[in-house]
Amino acid sequence: MQIARRSLIGLAATMVGSSALPNFSKAKAPLSNAQNAGFYHYKIGDIEATAITDGFAERPLAGFIKNAELVDVKAVLSQSAMPQETLRIPFTTTVLNIGGQLVLIDTGNGDMGSPKSGSWMANFKAAGFNPEQVDLVIFSHFHGDHINGYRLQSGVSPFKNAQIMVPSIEWAFWMDDGQFSRSPEGMKGAFANVRRVFDPVKDKVIQYEAGKEIVPGITSIAAFGHTPGHMAYMVSSGSNKHILMSDTTNHTALFVRRPEWTVIFDMDAEQAITSRRKMLDMAVSDGAEVSFYHAPFPATGRIVKDGSTYALVPTPWSTVL
Ligand SMILES: [Zn+2]
Repeated sequence: MQIARRSLIGLAATMVGSSALPNFSKAKAPLSNAQNAGFYHYKIGDIEATAITDGFAERPLAGFIKNAELVDVKAVLSQSAMPQETLRIPFTTTVLNIGGQLVLIDTGNGDMGSPKSGSWMANFKAAGFNPEQVDLVIFSHFHGDHINGYRLQSGVSPFKNAQIMVPSIEWAFWMDDGQFSRSPEGMKGAFANVRRVFDPVKDKVIQYEAGKEIVPGITSIAAFGHTPGHMAYMVSSGSNKHILMSDTTNHTALFVRRPEWTVIFDMDAEQAITSRRKMLDMAVSDGAEVSFYHAPFPATGRIVKDGSTYALVPTPWSTVL
């Protein structure tokens, strides 16, 4: 025993005292130069949910928030140690396997998004799905980053077997010719895009209202303001609840901390603020896990009250379901 301990001490002294550097002359490991596929499974009772990332868009911070000084916006970002000039806005869709039915909530950017987006289909397939398996696509609202994945630039939809559900108020607004013609010039492209995506299936879409169980386990929640018919969802199975927040916030680092701020995309700012507070309060009082479309991947966590504001506590990665 005595001898063994002495020789170990001697070895340690040799290692610490050596000035030789490791020899890397035979190193061969190539760089990855690419990220691994972005999907994350989690359970909501018996429902298996999968978050699928569609990458991100980068936007200049200046002008992004309508009712706050840039210096104050930067101060909030610095609390999360985030860059001060540009904001990365992530895209995360949710797939729900409910009793063998594959339900997709929003479809990502397809081939029409920012250069850093467009990985959705590769990630969806890497998660073990194929688009022909999708039974139902539910749309939260009609902004391009949520609907363009449904119909590619070629006009083809990858979801050949899927039924489609849309919020009735959203449909009435965007498909109305009067709204289109009266809209400001800057919004005409968004109107045209909604028609590009939905015109070929306009006789098949199923319209849904707020506050209804639209399929077993998914109840729509009115979260109007971001767009006229913008919806969030309560997904439940047994005693388990999970709130899909959709675009209740356009980046959690900003609008969970400061729900009274309004993003340039909120079409009715006051209504969006009211909806945001309602949804954040609901997440706190229900103690439910939440997901956001625009949050750092995998975009799930819990909302806690933090004085007069809120904070998002990300869900830790779990190796088991
Ligand atoms: Zn969005």
